[in-house]
Amino acid sequence: MKFPLIYEIATKDVVNIDINQTLAEAIDMMYKYNHRNIIVIDKNRFFILTANDILKLKLKSCDFSNKISSIDLEVLPTINKDENILDTMSFLERDIEYICATDDEGNLFGLVTYTDIISHIDPESLMENYRLADLMKMNKNVQKISKDSSTKDALEGMAENNYDCVVVLEGKLPIGILTTKDIMNLIKNRPNLDSDVSEYMSTPVESLDENSSIKEAINFMQVKHFKRIVTTNSDGEFTGLILQKELISLSYSRWAILMKQYSSELSEINTLLEDKSKKFEKMASIDQLTGLYNRYKFTELFVLEYHTMVQRDNKMSLIMLDIDHFKKINDRYGHNIGDTVLLQLSNILLRHLRNVDIIGRWGGEEFLILLPTAEIENAKKLAEKLRLSIEEYDMDNNLKITTSFGVTEIKQGDDIKSAVKRADDALYEAKAKGRNCVVVNTQ
Ligand code: GH3
Ligand code: MG
Ligand code: MG
Repeated sequence: MKFPLIYEIATKDVVNIDINQTLAEAIDMMYKYNHRNIIVIDKNRFFILTANDILKLKLKSCDFSNKISSIDLEVLPTINKDENILDTMSFLERDIEYICATDDEGNLFGLVTYTDIISHIDPESLMENYRLADLMKMNKNVQKISKDSSTKDALEGMAENNYDCVVVLEGKLPIGILTTKDIMNLIKNRPNLDSDVSEYMSTPVESLDENSSIKEAINFMQVKHFKRIVTTNSDGEFTGLILQKELISLSYSRWAILMKQYSSELSEINTLLEDKSKKFEKMASIDQLTGLYNRYKFTELFVLEYHTMVQRDNKMSLIMLDIDHFKKINDRYGHNIGDTVLLQLSNILLRHLRNVDIIGRWGGEEFLILLPTAEIENAKKLAEKLRLSIEEYDMDNNLKITTSFGVTEIKQGDDIKSAVKRADDALYEAKAKGRNCVVVNTQ
C-alpha cells in the first residue's frame, strides 16, 4: 500500500487574501470563486475565514469594511509539502479540517483538506465491518430543523452550534439541507430571514441507510463529492448526520491500528521464517551426530569444486574411509559409545585437513574427504597420515580403532557417483587386504 506525500494530494491553487484587506473583499472573493472559506495570509502564518465566521459577523451587524485583521481567526496548522499523508493524522485527531502545506521557505504551497485525505484512503483495506450506525452513537450533534421553521432560527442555530449545515425535516423525513454554501448565496441576495427555511434549502437531500458500512459511506462520499452524509433508518426517517471529518478520523485511526498490527505481525513472521529456514538449511546440510556435511551437501559441494577444477585445469583427489569392524564396537560397548567414537574420529580427521578440504559423512561409519588441488600422491600421503593418527589415538573408554582407506584422483567427466565408485572399490580392496591400510585406485 502506498502512502502519498502531501504535495501529491494538496490542492495547489488556493484562494487566499492578505490579512490587511477588508472583510468585504474577502466575501467578494469567496463569492467569486464559490468557496465557503478563504485562506488569510499574514506573512508565514495562515488563517481561515469561513462562511460561518461571516454568518456570525452578519448576525452581529459587523462592518464589513473593516480589515480582516480586526477579527479573531483560527490559525491553521502547517505541514511541509514533502511529508507523508500519515503525518496529517495527528491533526485530524485535533479536529482540524484544513492543513496548510508549505514549501521549504514556509510559504503557502497548497491546502490539504478532509476531501483530499478521504479520496486517498483505500476503502478496500478496511471499514467493511463498521456500520454508519456505530458512528452515530458518537455523534451527538443532531443538526435538524422542521421545514416550517424560519430561516433566522436555522441560521442562529448554525451560528450558535458552529454547524456547517442543518437538515430540514418534514415530520421525520429529511427533505432538504441548508449548508454554509447556501448561506453565502443567501447573504448576497439580502434574504427575508423570517420566511420558511424550506425556501432557501437545497433539495432533495440524498441520504444513506445507517446500516451501510463505512466503506460504502466513503465510496458514497467520493462518488458524490459530498462533505457529509445524511443517514436514515429503514423507514427513510432521519437518524443523523456524519461529517466527512468524523468518518475520516475513525477510518484513519482504525487504519493506523491495522497497519501497525499488520507490520508487527509481518516482522514476527519474518523472524520466525528466517530462524526456521536457517534451521532447515542446517538440517539439510549438516550431519546431526558429527557436525560434518551430510551426503546431500557434500554432493552439492563436489559439483562446485569439480567445475572449479575443470575451469582452472587443476587436480583434485577423493579419499573414502571406513571404520574397521565397527559392528564389534557397537556390539561390545553399545551404540552410544559407538556414537562417541564416530564423533572423536570426525575431530581427528578435521584436525588434519586444510580449510579448502571438504569432509562429509557418507554413510554410517563411512566418510569422504575431497581435496581440491591435491594430486593423488599428496592424497595418498594424507590418507596414510590419517590412518596412523587414528590407529594411535586413545579413544574414550580405552578404545582403539583402525580405519581403511580408498583413494582416487578426480578425472574430467567424473560425477559424484563415478568418483565414489572408484574410491569405494579401492576401499573394498583395502578391507580385503586385511584392513588398516590405504589403497589407491589409479584407473
Ligand atoms: P568392516 O570393517 O568390514 O567395515 O566391518 P564393519 O563392522 O565396520 O562394517 P559393517 O558395514 O558391517 O557395519 C557398520 C556398522 O556401523 C553397522 C552399524 O550398526 C554401525 N553404524 C552405522 N551408523 C551408526 C551410528 O550412527 N552410530 C553407531 N553407533 N553405529 C553406527
Ligand atoms: Mg566398517
Ligand atoms: Mg561400512
